[in-house]
Amino acid sequence: MSELHKFIFEGLPVRGAIVRLTDSWQEILSRRELHAGDEVGSGKYPDIVQNLLGEMTAAAVLMQGNIKFNGSLILQVMGGEKKDMSPIKLAVVEVKSDLTFRTTAKVVHAVKGNESFSRLINAGNQARCAITLDPEVKFQGQQPYQSIVPLYGDQGDPLESFASVLEHYMLQSEQLDTKLVLAANGEMAVGLLIQRMPLKGENNLAGAFTSTENEDQIGKNEDFNRIATLTASIKTDELLTLSIDDILHRLFWQEPIARYEPANPAPRFQCTCSRERVASTIRSLGQSETERMIEERDGIQVNCDFCGQPYSFDVIDAAMLFMPAESVVPPKF
Ligand SMILES: [Zn+2]
Repeated sequence: MSELHKFIFEGLPVRGAIVRLTDSWQEILSRRELHAGDEVGSGKYPDIVQNLLGEMTAAAVLMQGNIKFNGSLILQVMGGEKKDMSPIKLAVVEVKSDLTFRTTAKVVHAVKGNESFSRLINAGNQARCAITLDPEVKFQGQQPYQSIVPLYGDQGDPLESFASVLEHYMLQSEQLDTKLVLAANGEMAVGLLIQRMPLKGENNLAGAFTSTENEDQIGKNEDFNRIATLTASIKTDELLTLSIDDILHRLFWQEPIARYEPANPAPRFQCTCSRERVASTIRSLGQSETERMIEERDGIQVNCDFCGQPYSFDVIDAAMLFMPAESVVPPKF
């Protein structure tokens, strides 16, 4: 079963969380295969795309689990438009505050088995990565909060793993020292996050070093650095084979770790698609485009990108989408 566990290091300004997605991750992958269409990139993900999407999913669940926010956290990478663009055109994960999540990737051309992270998703530095927080309840006119996440380091050098992208982002924009390790395969997606806790009155790292608690602060950074080094020592195959208990014991058996009860309910797959949402997407195409599609294919059949659920609109259904609401008489059953 999928699990999310949080913990702290007692007396040290360091907290952590570990996630392991199993059945729900497998369900996402099997739905993808089950509902494969005939378009390019449909069906089973190439392994390295699957693994990257799993890492993104684990990371997004960890981030949602780490904030107090009532709404969706959406982590997405959009590939570039130019000719030498990356095979992955879009990768997106959405995690709600109740830890239900869904994820999908759009693969637009063939993937080499050994493609580097930056080639896979950020060829020519064209990709954009963003984290969006979309509140469940919005006041009128409220927009979701969006942060742009750079895919390259401070010197403009491309970052070579998704974990390093997020570590860099957390430090630069949230002033949070973070160590993140991620791994995924066709069976599970696993992530371990360690973070230095923001201290009272501390605005950023520069501020921390000019504070009167200078020496104390340096001591606390040493604690974080030691725990981060331990965290980085875990190997991918250990993350993908050991239980959560074994991973935490193997890394932190000498540290004063205190664990909370696992997240309940646990992280799990759930799609929020509906016929009404699909209808509004079709409406946004406009009436003439919709009529053209219906004529070509005798109706509109679409599958949800996230869960594969098929939705079909015949000629009459589609015509009703463009009628003013008051003239649509609901059918009686
Ligand atoms: Zn769906």
